[in-house]
Amino acid sequence: MNRFFVEPALVAEPEVRLGGEIAHQLSRVLRLEAGDHILLLDGLGFEYEVELSAVLRQGKSDTASGRVLEKRPAGGEPRLRVTLYQALLKGEKFDVVLQKGTEVGVSRFVPILTERCVGQAARPDRWKKIVREAAEQSRRGKLPELMEKPLKLAEALDRIKTEGQTAFMAWEEEQAINFHLLPAGLTELGILIGPEGGFSKKEAELAQNAGVQTLSLGKRILRAETAGPIATALALYQSEDL
Ligand code: SAH
Repeated sequence: MNRFFVEPALVAEPEVRLGGEIAHQLSRVLRLEAGDHILLLDGLGFEYEVELSAVLRQGKSDTASGRVLEKRPAGGEPRLRVTLYQALLKGEKFDVVLQKGTEVGVSRFVPILTERCVGQAARPDRWKKIVREAAEQSRRGKLPELMEKPLKLAEALDRIKTEGQTAFMAWEEEQAINFHLLPAGLTELGILIGPEGGFSKKEAELAQNAGVQTLSLGKRILRAETAGPIATALALYQSEDL
């Protein structure tokens, strides 16, 4: 069944009306008709099975309507909520992190600014679309959160401290692979990933002083856009949550 994330208000009533991009998808791309079923997700953890009652092709303003048959909890969410603090990257590379991170199971993305960031500015609208599409494709039950405004590394570390979050900084100079140190039953984990040029020693020390452990992701150095999704997969596997 085709899946779409929508605003929670849209599925608050049993009769739903769809327009815009979703109606376009339903009518032109998927060519669905009255009687077909789709899944609407409120992004908060519930899915709604909807039977379409009409799909209208009206030039640029296609519409569709349907009826909710059933509301149920959506699956697809890990118990361990991973927040990926990712340094801004050049070109389209941050997009890759959002797409692959969502597929693997990141719950929250926080862009960060670090010493060696040469990356571009934040592009929240583009980013939100990438996350939504990846979440639909990978059958996530919730829409991963995305912080629109990048935090400076020091601000991110402060936040980790105030939230009392367990967090690791993947640091290419670190030797110890210590994901096995994840406490059993952990429900929140922060992972910090550097930019193309990596984290400086000073930044690693800043993290350590804030109670964030540095860790190695192995003998091979991963590209900045690869490291976050891989680290997330390792953490979820370690917590038996993949
Ligand atoms: N330019 C650096 C590599 C940066 S890799 C160098 O050549 O040494 C970009 C980011 O990915 C790093 O800051 C780190 O967060 C993460 N990363 C990649 N490979 C890693 C590894 N083997 N161990 C720990 N972190 C790694």
